Amino acid sequence: MTTDNRFSTATLLAHAGRDPDRHHGIVNPPVYHCSTVLFPTVDHLLETRRDRASGAYEGFTYGREGTPTTRALEDAVVALEGGYRAVTASCGLGAISAALMAFLKTGDHLLMVDSVYGPARYFAENVLVKFGVTVEFFDPLVADSIATLFRPETRVVYLESPCSLTFEVMDVPAIAAACRSRGIVTIMDNTWASPIGFKPLAHGVNVSIHAATKYISGHSDLMLGLAICDEEHFIPVKQTASAAGYCGGPDDIYMALRGLRTLGLRMARHQASALTVARWLQARPEVERVLYPALESDPGHALWKRDFLGASGLFGVVLNPCSAIALAAMLDHMALFKLGYSWGGFESLAVPTYPSTLRSARPWAGTGPTLRLHVGIEDPADLIMDLEDSFARLARAEAA
Ligand SMILES: *Cc1c(COP(=O)(O)O)cnc(C)c1O
Repeated sequence: MTTDNRFSTATLLAHAGRDPDRHHGIVNPPVYHCSTVLFPTVDHLLETRRDRASGAYEGFTYGREGTPTTRALEDAVVALEGGYRAVTASCGLGAISAALMAFLKTGDHLLMVDSVYGPARYFAENVLVKFGVTVEFFDPLVADSIATLFRPETRVVYLESPCSLTFEVMDVPAIAAACRSRGIVTIMDNTWASPIGFKPLAHGVNVSIHAATKYISGHSDLMLGLAICDEEHFIPVKQTASAAGYCGGPDDIYMALRGLRTLGLRMARHQASALTVARWLQARPEVERVLYPALESDPGHALWKRDFLGASGLFGVVLNPCSAIALAAMLDHMALFKLGYSWGGFESLAVPTYPSTLRSARPWAGTGPTLRLHVGIEDPADLIMDLEDSFARLARAEAA
């Protein structure tokens, strides 16, 4: 479909990235299983070589560079979030590392939000550092005062909002504006909100990252990453992802595109149920604090309301202090909230988190144990029943 900006998100979700006229009228694009692409003449072959060298990747040349299935998914997310083109990677972390490597070289300074997704922090501290990049973490609550941290060699500012595990909301427009005036590239992990809940490029960010593994695919059955880029920053990210050998599998790309069709319905449900569960938790004596910007009482609520179009089903819970045994008793036998990393699928998940071990610029102030809950599409009354049972187990273990 040619992107038509008269259409709203709900309509784009049903139509973007599809062109039935090109596929015998068939509603969905086909899955191209591909390594080799054949060229009719030497002239055609040489033409794609020239295109590759200049970064004008319009045709299809080899499986690693993507197929029409890949383009369909990329076009769909660009229609939803704006931007010029998207780059597909084999997983979310691949999209993150490709975007960082695209703009950083030896001697450069990277500013990364302190509460970033753990494996992205690991990549910066252990891989980028090895190649001579200086990595500095910053307080997620800075706004335009980020400029005080800029050095002549600052090349990239990396954001994630709300932050992994602790859910602080960042002032993305203020930070992006400060970076823009200094020619610093901004990369933001937008996985939490999905393309429904936040549009980073509309707030001045250059590259928006999604672990499509999470909400975009929505069914806990594939790994995929996307980097949505503005025009100036597309070619470096595309070339780096290609040079590093990142590409998505054809069936995973197809399933992500299929998942995307219901993203709007799922996000509305995740948000509504998460709010119900979060409000119930707030009233519980076992709970010190719920970390969810969609709650009016959350310190990030005003910023979230100003900039975001929606929330997701993922939030943090700070419990009042209890023993490790009691916490395990609470989480070990949940009927619905199963223990697992990841989130964004249709099902509910829980995981104990340890945010203080992943911070350096702004220490985590929480005292009790923290959890991360993903509220799936189940009936929220059943999820509350499951949590009620879990608190009963916690109380029994504390009393024993
Ligand atoms: C899961 C996740 C990633 C990484 O995605 P993978 O597909 O698992 O590599 C990146 N950012 C956030 C916020 C995530 O939750």
